[in-house]
Amino acid sequence: MAKQLNILINPHPTLRKKSLEISPEELFSKKMKTLLLDMEETMKKKDGAGLAAPQIGENIRIIVVSDENKTIFLINPKITKKSWARKVEDEGCLSVLNEKGEIIYAPISRHKKINCIYLDEKGNKKTLAAENLLARVIQHEIDHLDGILFIDYLKDFPNNPKAS
Ligand SMILES: [Zn+2]
Repeated sequence: MAKQLNILINPHPTLRKKSLEISPEELFSKKMKTLLLDMEETMKKKDGAGLAAPQIGENIRIIVVSDENKTIFLINPKITKKSWARKVEDEGCLSVLNEKGEIIYAPISRHKKINCIYLDEKGNKKTLAAENLLARVIQHEIDHLDGILFIDYLKDFPNNPKAS
């Protein structure tokens, strides 16, 4: 049975580390299979559109995203193409809460369409063309793998090191 994992909250240092790629040996381990299923369960229970491994305390390059009731597992994902067109929409993150413990939302500009390559949970090389919400979620989750939170794009957010 998949279990719900604890989600790390900003400013936890694990959320700021650059995550490492998964090797084939790691991908086919029992631990990894359990982790993927637990991440899916956690995303669903928290009603999230996606979840990245650093959010559950693992600095490895895995994200799970929800696409119309099905879950896509993206291992070592890389964006290979970004549309010139961008779109601004409100975005939130399960790891970024206000003092009351509520998710905060802010308008963020993202590429409207992206292409990415990744390994699926069976180790197959895949490509995915995504647009709108799915493209946004993938960009948000891949940012997590590089230690980036969506609030970094906001000039005036209190914990933002770029803010004065
Ligand atoms: Zn997030």
